[in-house]
Amino acid sequence: MTTRLYNFNPGPAALPLEVLEEAKETTVQYGGRGISIMEMSHRSKPVEQLAAVTEQLLLELMGLQQDRYRALFMGGGASAQFAMLPLNFLAEGLAADYILSGSFSEKALQEAQFIGSTRKAASTKDEQWQRTPDVSSLQVKADTAYVHMTTNNTIEGSRFNVFPETGDVPLIADMTSDLLGRDIDYRRFSMIYAGAQKNIGPAGITAVIIRKELLERGSKHIPLIWRYATYANNDSLYNTPPVHALYLTNLVLQWTKRQGGVKQLEAVNRAKAALLYDAIDQSGGFYQGIIAKADRSDMNITWRLADKQLERLFVQESEQYGFEGLAGHRSVGGIRASAYNAVPVEACQALADFMTDFQLRHG
Ligand SMILES: *Cc1c(COP(=O)(O)O)cnc(C)c1O
Repeated sequence: MTTRLYNFNPGPAALPLEVLEEAKETTVQYGGRGISIMEMSHRSKPVEQLAAVTEQLLLELMGLQQDRYRALFMGGGASAQFAMLPLNFLAEGLAADYILSGSFSEKALQEAQFIGSTRKAASTKDEQWQRTPDVSSLQVKADTAYVHMTTNNTIEGSRFNVFPETGDVPLIADMTSDLLGRDIDYRRFSMIYAGAQKNIGPAGITAVIIRKELLERGSKHIPLIWRYATYANNDSLYNTPPVHALYLTNLVLQWTKRQGGVKQLEAVNRAKAALLYDAIDQSGGFYQGIIAKADRSDMNITWRLADKQLERLFVQESEQYGFEGLAGHRSVGGIRASAYNAVPVEACQALADFMTDFQLRHG
């Protein structure tokens, strides 16, 4: 067998090796039933059970109570949520406030603009997203349908450390790249969504965590398939969900719990990111961090090399040394290491060592 790479892919991203091994074992036979889960009816007991326990486990890991929140699973990726959210909650006569902190937040706004009135509540676009907007004293008007933010900016490598006070207005977040990666007070949010392929599972499934009272306020004038209430009323089994992706997500969540949960993973993630940020900050300018220090993400660590030629060489050489996925997003260039929950400390240590070594040889 070939050895596994140090996987810093931004998404789809690294999955825990334990989970892959476990999934391999159950691929042909699930629960000793003579068929795999991919071949089972989504109306069967095992699949109903899988949906129910996965919902419970996700809420538990987030520290949310089952009597206040639902966790729903659906296809379409986080991008489908960009449209589904305003379809459900951007009613006429109201406006949705979007906090802009990077390109995914702009995409979320773009879709909402097809549906209803929107406002830019804050933005750091004219600073090339090098920091996240200060939202500590955000003013929320009475006619606001909801406030939307992206808690961690995957492409840019920044994050919010402070979340706005929105009073009775629902605060809604795209947490695709930091859900369960840090210990946020998830109770402050009325709705959270995340494509699974970064921190909680494989591609093909999206988690939507939503307050029950918000569910009831969703539009009744849109097709059933686009209503959150439809997914909630049918325990995510209204139509065929991505069953195998749900199964893998369940395995990742169990793994997350075995690691000690979110608090423990946050500490590990902090240490992992610090290895890379230290290598950047101690390089005497050879490596240059892109994001203002206070707003740096622990999930996506971004930097540049002063010399573009060397930057290309860095990525090329890194591949020879067994590192995967370090080229920055095509829209911004530079280098990006995505060190989600499943990326082991050893991978970050190896990358920090490689950075030092590369500088010695080429600096
Ligand atoms: C990856 C990502 C998306 C896009 O997710 P898809 O599942 O590909 O639609 C949206 N928002 C954030 C913050 C992301 O990191």
